[in-house]
Amino acid sequence: MKAAILEQRGRAGLFVRDIAVPKPRPGEALMRVHAAGLNRVDLYMRDNGSGITHSLPQTMGVEAAGVVVEADADSGLRPGQKAVLYSNAFCGRCRYCMAGEQPLCLRAHIMGEHRDGGFAEYVVMPNRCFFPLPDAVDLVDAGALMTGHLTAWRMLFGKRALQPGETVLVVGIGGGVAVASLQLALRAGARVLVTSSSDAKIERALALGASSGVNYRTEQVAERVLALTGGEGVDMVIDSVGQASWGDSLRCLRRGGRLVTCGATTGSNPPAEIQRLFIRQLEIYGSTGGSVDEFRQLVSLFASGAIKPVIDRRFALDDVHAAFDCLERGEQFGKVVVLMA
Ligand SMILES: [Zn+2]
Repeated sequence: MKAAILEQRGRAGLFVRDIAVPKPRPGEALMRVHAAGLNRVDLYMRDNGSGITHSLPQTMGVEAAGVVVEADADSGLRPGQKAVLYSNAFCGRCRYCMAGEQPLCLRAHIMGEHRDGGFAEYVVMPNRCFFPLPDAVDLVDAGALMTGHLTAWRMLFGKRALQPGETVLVVGIGGGVAVASLQLALRAGARVLVTSSSDAKIERALALGASSGVNYRTEQVAERVLALTGGEGVDMVIDSVGQASWGDSLRCLRRGGRLVTCGATTGSNPPAEIQRLFIRQLEIYGSTGGSVDEFRQLVSLFASGAIKPVIDRRFALDDVHAAFDCLERGEQFGKVVVLMA
C-alpha cells in the first residue's frame, strides 16, 4: 500500500512509499482509508516536532475515515461498514481515562504522531477508536471531522460551556479549528465575531453566519470588538494563534470572560498581563483534542447531517507535498484533505 512517511524533518524528508499493509493485533481493526484531513500539527511535525515524543520514520496523518475491512467477530464492527477514527489510542486504564478524560491519558498514542497515521491506504487502530457511520455519509467530510471539530467542541463546551446568546470571538478565521468553532458556536445559539488578515475570509465567515469580522491588518481589533459589543467585550475568545493575538484577545474579553487556547502558531510567550487577569477576573484555559464522550456527541450530530466540515481543497496521496504547501501558505478557508481513494 502507499503511505506518506516522514523520514527526516523538513519538506524533503516526507516521502510517499510503498509498504506492507499493516496487520491488526487482537483488539484492533483494519480500515481502508478514504480521506484524512491535514492539520497544523502535521506541518509542525514535518518541520520541527519539538515537544512531540516520537521517532522517525513516521506514517503521518492524525485523522481518518474509511471502511472497516478486518475486525474481530466480537468487536461489534462489521467489514464493509463506514467509520471515522478517534485518533487517540488511549490506554483506558490511567486515572484520566477512568474519568473519561482521554485527551489527558498518561499513555496516549495518537495516530500520525506515535503510531501509524491516516495518510496511508490502510490503517490499524484499537477497536474502541472506530466510530461506525451510516452508509449515506460522505467519507471526505468524515475524514475532515475529528481534529478541527472535536478540538473546537471541547474548547467551546468543555469547561465553561458557551451559552445561547453569548458572544464569542474566533481569532484568525480560516483554519480548521477556527471554522469549526464558528459552525459549532452558531449551532449553540451564540453570536460569533471573527478576525482575519483577509477580507475574503471575513466574507466567507459572514456568509456562514458570523455577525461581524475585523481585519487585524487594517483595524484595531480590541477597539472594534468593544465597539461591536456595546463597550463590554465578548464572553469567550477562541485563540489558536498565540503570541501575536494574545494581548488583543485579553482586551476583547468582558469582565469574567474566558480565553480558550489550543495553539501557538505565532509563539508561546506573550506578556501574562496578570493585573488585567485578576482585576477583571478573567479565565484562561488550554484545550487539546476531545474526549470519547465528546466525540460520540459530535459523530452523532455529523451522522444526522447537522454538521458538515467546510472543505477547501482536496489532494491525492501522491500530491501530499502540494497539500502541505497549501496549508503552509495559510490561504485556505476550512480543511485541506488528502484522499486515499
Ligand atoms: Zn489513559
